[in-house]
Formats: sequence, structure tokens, C-alpha cells
Amino acid sequence: METIPLAEGDPAWVFPEESVTPALMASLAASSERLVEIAGLLPGGRAGWSGSGLEYNVFPSGKCSLYGWAESPDPDATFVVEMAPPGYWGTDSVGWEVTADISVRCDARYDAACGMHVMEEFTANVYATPEEAVAAVDRATSWLLDRCRAVPPEDWRARDPLEPCRGQG
Ligand SMILES: [Zn+2]
Repeated sequence: METIPLAEGDPAWVFPEESVTPALMASLAASSERLVEIAGLLPGGRAGWSGSGLEYNVFPSGKCSLYGWAESPDPDATFVVEMAPPGYWGTDSVGWEVTADISVRCDARYDAACGMHVMEEFTANVYATPEEAVAAVDRATSWLLDRCRAVPPEDWRARDPLEPCRGQG
């Protein structure tokens, strides 16, 4: 998989070419900027591999999603948003699916570690048009930024009950 910053990629990878307008791209740029802002609020924070926020995740098959993350290594907290175009999750996915969540790394030891523990989730939904999907990305990144401002970074880890994993490590 290749990661390409929003500003350097081709929106036609995820939207029909005729639907790509300056307003659509301006909204995505604002969402991207929010991820950078979140990273700025987190100790050692980073927004995407490029540091610029939203990125295209491009697979060798041509499959592509718009993905953004901001995270802090210590205290550990990860803020993620994703917009998957029609067909991304299979032939029966007919719209643009937007998801977002805030998670911490599983800290169970050895083989019991399961990956990430989701602390809070934005209500995932599938949208019929690029405009609606981009508006949802706007709401999702606003929600991520609001939550980042509301909760001290070290609190995310403290909120993790770890019940499913603790005791197995
Ligand atoms: Zn776990």
C-alpha cells in the first residue's frame, strides 16, 4: 500500500471526476487541517505519515480510501477518520462509508495483544453522494478535534478498561 498526501493525490481515485469541485476539495483540506491541529495538541503528536493530515491509501489493485490519523506515542492515543468509496469493502458497498474513532493500543502482554482498543466512535454511515460523504468527513474531524480538546491526552489510556485482554498476558 502506498500513502499519498491529500494535496498530492488525485481525487478521482475516490470520487467520480465530475463531482470534484473546489468546494469539495476545500472542505477536505479543512478536515485535513483539523488532524494537524489534533496532532499539535498531543505530546509528540503526528498527523499521518506525511504530517499533513488526510492521505490516500492506494493499494496495488487500484483500490483507494481517504484516510487520516493523528496520534501521540506517549501518552498513547490515536484519532482516525476514513472515507471508503463505493466498492471498497466489496461489491455490495454502494456508497461512501465514513468512519472515525479514538483508540489506544492494546497493552496486554505477549500474544494476547489484540491491536487497538476503541474508546469512542463516530456514528459510521454510508452516503450516496461525494458531497454528503465529504460533509460527514467534516463532521467526523470536527468531532475528533472537539474530543481531543475536551479530554486530556493521558486520560484516553486511563479510560481503557482492558477487560477483554487483561489476564491473558
Ligand atoms: Zn486488547
